[in-house]
This record gives sequence, C-alpha cells and structure tokens, in this order.
Amino acid sequence: MRNDAPMRYISTRGQAPELTFEETMLTGLARDGGLYVPAEIPTMGAGDIAALAGVSYEEAALRVMRPFLGESFTESELSDIIARAYAGFGHAARAPLKQLQDNHFLLELFHGPTLAFKDFAMQLIGQLFEAALARRGERVTIVGATSGDTGSAAMEAFRGLDAVDVFILYPHGRVSDVQRRQMTTVTEANAHALAIDGTFDDAQARLKDMFNDFAFRDEVRLAGVNSINFARVLAQVVYYFTAAVSLGAPHRLVSFTVPTGNFGDIFAGYLAKRMGLPIERLVVATNQNDILHRALSSGDYVTHGVTPSISPSMDIQVSSNFERALFDAYGRDGRAVAQLMDELKQGGFHISQGALEHLRGHFASGRASEAETSAMIARARVEMGELLCPHSAVGVHVAQDFLGPTPMITLATAHPAKFPDAVEAATGIRPALPPRMADLHERPERMTRVGNDLTEIETLIREALPK
Ligand SMILES: *Cc1c(COP(=O)(O)O)cnc(C)c1O
Repeated sequence: MRNDAPMRYISTRGQAPELTFEETMLTGLARDGGLYVPAEIPTMGAGDIAALAGVSYEEAALRVMRPFLGESFTESELSDIIARAYAGFGHAARAPLKQLQDNHFLLELFHGPTLAFKDFAMQLIGQLFEAALARRGERVTIVGATSGDTGSAAMEAFRGLDAVDVFILYPHGRVSDVQRRQMTTVTEANAHALAIDGTFDDAQARLKDMFNDFAFRDEVRLAGVNSINFARVLAQVVYYFTAAVSLGAPHRLVSFTVPTGNFGDIFAGYLAKRMGLPIERLVVATNQNDILHRALSSGDYVTHGVTPSISPSMDIQVSSNFERALFDAYGRDGRAVAQLMDELKQGGFHISQGALEHLRGHFASGRASEAETSAMIARARVEMGELLCPHSAVGVHVAQDFLGPTPMITLATAHPAKFPDAVEAATGIRPALPPRMADLHERPERMTRVGNDLTEIETLIREALPK
C-alpha cells in the first residue's frame, strides 16, 4: 500500500458503500449484511517488526494500528487513546508471555478490568468512540446482548464516558456470579445492566429487533459494539506482534493456538500474518460446538445448534467473523460470499476446493470435548503449575497436537477466577480473584429486571436516557 493512499473499508458482500475507519467503527455491520474489511491490508517490513522489540505495549499498539486508521485520528490523538485504554490493566506488560511446556508458551490476555481478552478491544473502542463523538458533537446509545464476557467488558469500557450511554441485556439467572457482578456493580449513571426474563437467544433476538426498529434506532442513535466491529478485531492484532517479537520474530517463525468462537480473535492473527508477521500456523481450537473444526476438516460449514459447555464464551452456532476469512478465500468476491450466506440460512454450505485450500494454507484446527477440557485443566495444574480457565484449557489441549520445532503460543483468553466452578471441579482449587477486585462480592448491585418484550425494553431505555 502507498503510504499516502487513503484507507478505505469495503464490505464482504460487495454491495455497501466504502467507508473510512471511523465510519466503519461507528457503523458496525454493513448495510448489505456484510462485514467491513480494509480494501488493502497495510504491511510492516522485517525492520519495522524487529524494531518492536523492547518498546512498551502501548507504543507497539500505536505502530501496528496506525496504518489502518488513515486520516480518522492523528498520531497524538491515537497515542492518548491507547494510553487511556490500557491504563487500567493489572500487569505492566499488558499481555505477558510465560513458558508452559518445552517450546510452548501461554499468552496471558486476562489482566484487563474484567479478566478476559475482550478488554483489549473493548477498552480501546470505548476511547475511540469517545474521541470521535466529541469531535462530531454527537452522542450515541450502545445496546448489547451478552452471555457474560462481552457485556461486562462493554460496561467497564463505556462507564463514565460523556458521549455514550450503554445498556447491556443479559439473561436473568443465567450468567455466572462474577460475570453478573462485573455488570451490576458499575456505579456510573450512563451504564445500565438489564436482566431480561429469558435466555441469551431471547436477549440477542430483542437486540436485533431494536436495530430493525428504524424509528427507535434513529431516535436514540443506536450503536453496536459486537465482535464483528472491525475496530475490535484491529485492537487484537497488536498482541500477536508483541508475543511473536518477544520470541524472536521476524527472525524466527512462531505458531499460535486460539480458543475460538466467533473467529474475531484468530482473524486478528490472520491479519497480523497478512501484514507480514512470520506465522507458521494459526490453530483454531473449538469446544464441542465445533462448526469451524468440522468445516476446516470436511469443507462443509453446517449448523448443528448449540450445546452448553464449561467454556460458554465459545458456545456458538455460527461463527460471524469467519465471513471475513471466506471473503479472502473466495478471492474477495462479495457476490460469492453473499451466496454462501444465503445458503447458510438454509442450514449450511460447502466450501469450494480452491477456497478450502486457501483456508488450510493459513489455519489448522482441533476440538476439545468437555472431558478433555476438564482433564487438561487438571493436568496443567499438576504438570505445568498453571490454573487454566476452561477456554484456555481448550486451547492448550488442542495445541498438544501441533507442538514441534516452531514455538507455539496459546492464547489464555480469561482468568481462571472468572470460571471458578469449572476450575474447582477439575482441580479441587477455587481460584481467587486478583487483589484489585477481591471485594467484588461485597459491592452493592444495581440492575433493572425487564420482560422479554421489545416495547418494554425500548420504553425503559428511552426513559433512562438523559433529557
Ligand atoms: C469471546 C471469548 C472467546 C472466543 O473469541 P472469538 O473472538 O469469539 O473467537 C474465547 N474465550 C473467551 C474467554 C472469550 O470471552
């Protein structure tokens, strides 16, 4: 890419207008139903990558993300935004790497305020929204639905910001104690936890209804920050670079294993590779909800419904960000992708031989059953001295089949204390919360119960907004 070329974003279905980075971030889903991707992927040369050695996480984030933002933010604006985003992390390295086994490393992504990797993206997008909206003199209402981790990360990222009100719908009685408290103990007036009488699917369905109610959508200026937002993916590219460089990149190849649900995190790894980071293999690790492992093995991307697991943040029926990988695999043919997504509505599609070869050139895959996940939590405790959360354990289990001369980095996506029941069942040890949030269970809770009813939810939001 020429350095002076404007940065444009295009839809994976080819029918939506091209946007700038800022417009892409504020829009989320493209109007043709597709996902925005950069029209051209910026690259970093070996010298630029080598120069990341020894710089702070924040400085690395600035250098890696800057080319994607085009004219949307100045360098000094972006630098301030990044500093604010990661100031609340409980570890100076932000994403520390530690050795787990011979030539196998764990990338700890759980030192953010809600103890899961989603903080890396959500904290950044909160600050990006605030800066963009202040400049435009606008205010938005962010509404999200959550099964746990995304909602707590969003509440934490948007609380107290001037230009944003945030409402998170979660299924009443169906999230873990820690997840609920991370949402209900937020005290700022612009942040609202709504406990819906229903399941996660109900919460997600009402959210979709809200976005389709154009009168309401315009009235409150609805905005979304779910995992298809490109700004979230971009934030996650950074730690692939910092981890690889600390193990000798660009002079040495590395591989990554990524506990995967919606394919946002591992797609960030793919972007890092496309930017020039020498990655040998990106391993997709799924739990028993293994649509991605089946698709990469057989070429058939077919939905089977969701079976609840002990790694709930990976319990998905379809994997929304996979569309971005398909777009490249099909030679960036938006019509072909739109066709596949139509077939998906009938239950699935077959990936063409050429596209499958492209995908297998970048991604390997594996799955962990519930028993294998628990066994790995127990084994890691005894043999590696490590308490793993169930999601990270899925990754470490799958990585075992890919260990070899190339260093393997497995992403630890949540802190074990966020899923204490599964960890205790496997090891007999109940993991403690980090000291900075040890009083979580004493803090007063604040939430509003709401029926599984669109009008009721919309009325509640309207009345809670500042007049
Ligand atoms: C969201 C999440 C995942 C899955 O990440 P995707 O980007 O959806 O693939 C894995 N582990 C944890 C703890 C999560 O919160």
